[in-house]
Amino acid sequence: MPETTCAKCRAALDPGEGREYQGQELCEDCYLDSLSITKTCDPWAVHTAKSLKDLPGGQNLTPLQQKLFDLVKDQGEVPLLEAAAQLGLTEDELRREFAPLRHMEKLRACKKDDLIHLTLF
Ligand SMILES: [Zn+2]
Repeated sequence: MPETTCAKCRAALDPGEGREYQGQELCEDCYLDSLSITKTCDPWAVHTAKSLKDLPGGQNLTPLQQKLFDLVKDQGEVPLLEAAAQLGLTEDELRREFAPLRHMEKLRACKKDDLIHLTLF
C-alpha cells in the first residue's frame, strides 16, 4: 500500500486517517483548517475578520460565539457534535461560529477517540 501524505502539510497519514477535501487527501488538522477557512478566501471569513477588526474595542464575539466559548471554557473539552447540540446548531453552523474563534486563537479543535473535540486554544 503506498504511503499517503497530507496534500497540505505533507504529514504521513495512517490508512483511513486522511480526509478528502476537494479531491485532496488531507490530515485532520488541515481538513479542519480548510473547512474553517473554506477555500482560503471565503468572502464570509474575510468579511468577518474585517468587521471584527473594525469593531470598536477590537475582537468582540457575537453572542453565539461567546456562548460557544463559555461552553468550552466551562467543560474544558467538548465534542464538536455535542457543542452543536447544546447550542441548538447544526454541525455546519457550529463550524461557522467556530472558525472566527479559531482565527482569534481562542478555541482550537483536536481529535480524540475519532471525534473532533473543541478545547481552549
Ligand atoms: Zn496536514
